This record gives sequence, structure tokens and C-alpha cells, in this order.
Amino acid sequence: GDAIFIRTPTGSQVLIDGGPDASLVLSRLGRRIPFWDRTIDGIVLTHPDLDHLTGLLGVLERYQVQTIIYRHLPSDSSAYAHWQELLQSEGATVHQAEAGQHVVLDRGLELNVLHPGPELPAGEAATTNNASVVMRLTYGSVSILLPGDIEAVVEQQLLREGAPLASTALKVAHHGSCSSTSEEFLRAVDPTLAVISVGENDFGHPCEDVLARLGDIPVYRTDNHGAVELISDGTQVWVDPKR
Ligand SMILES: [Zn+2]
Repeated sequence: GDAIFIRTPTGSQVLIDGGPDASLVLSRLGRRIPFWDRTIDGIVLTHPDLDHLTGLLGVLERYQVQTIIYRHLPSDSSAYAHWQELLQSEGATVHQAEAGQHVVLDRGLELNVLHPGPELPAGEAATTNNASVVMRLTYGSVSILLPGDIEAVVEQQLLREGAPLASTALKVAHHGSCSSTSEEFLRAVDPTLAVISVGENDFGHPCEDVLARLGDIPVYRTDNHGAVELISDGTQVWVDPKR
């Protein structure tokens, strides 16, 4: 799963996805948020698959969240029904994500939504993964592309749309799945480093072909490196893997 925590220079806190395990994400947040602070400024759910959603349910129960960004999808999972209930009771401002939106998190630090557009992907592309909210975080001249779990078909769409993809760092889509991170997309992103958020799984993530396509780009994998922290002053990025 994915869980990406952002702390801005003035201390705003944003969490993108919550991973598959509420107790795990809560304990990791507990190391970064002082125990007396029960507030999170914003959370983003990229898509309602359980390896992104489950942890956020625990986060919504524990923390008071001000702003929630997601894109509603038809889903009949009980976890998604629970999410909808928590949205009602949280009292947060809820935004439906759509390409073109941007959220200013701090001075010079922005989160831009690149996908989905007004219409969700249709036909063969109509999967939960392809409806992922894709975002690009920019801070000064540093940027991080956060493509959720999109597959090659949406990567192609973003290329056709001329979306701003070039980024300093890439969170590799869909845990390094073979069906994502196509060569053309990777060329457009042209990252100086890549992070693969992946745990033990039966899907063969990350895929050997994706690792080969990444070539000599330094790759940090959460299964090998533990949590991967990126620290930036807006001109450079330092990587601090936790193992
Ligand atoms: Zn996933």
C-alpha cells in the first residue's frame, strides 16, 4: 500500500493515503506528530482500494481532519461505506479532486491535481486504479510526482494532455506493477530518484521490467529501506531511508 506524509516548513500536516493497516499508520504518524496534537490539516484518498483506504479510516477516527480530498467512485466495499460515514461525521471540508485544482500548503509549496479530469476513465480504462487522484507536489524547484496506482493507459492520457510530469522524484505508480511506469512516461517524468511503496505481496510487485526501466535511477523501496523520508529546501532533495 501507500501512505505519504507531508510536513510543510511551517508545520502543516497532510497525509496522502493510509496504507492497508490502521495501527501501522497510526504508530508511524505517532513518531512524527506530537502526542498532544490530534489534528491533521488535510488527507487525500487517491482511490478506495484497501491498501490505500484502510489506514485512513483509523486516521479519521483518531485525528481531527480539516480538509479531505478524494474522488467519489462507485464502490460497494464495506470499508468505502465506512469512509462515507466518517466523512459525514468528521466535519471536514470535503473536495472532489479534479485535474486543474491546486492547493497551496505553504509558501512556495503546492499540491497540483493532474487527474482525473471532469470525467472518470471509461471503457477498458474504467478501473479503480485508473481513477486514482494523480498529484504533483512542488516546492521551489523541487517536485514529486504522485501517480497513485494509475496504469499505462492513464500515463498515455497524461502525456497526450501535456500534463506537467517532469519531476525531481517519482513515487512509482501501483507499487512497481508491470502495467505502469511505461518507458515514454518515465522519460517525461525524468526523475533523479524513485520511491517504490511496496510490502509483501502476491502480485510480484515490484515488477522486474519496471526495475529495468528505472535503470540507473536510484530507487528506494519501502520493503527494503523501511519508510523513505525525502527532505527538501526547495532547491535540493535529501533522502533518509529508515533502514
Ligand atoms: Zn495500491
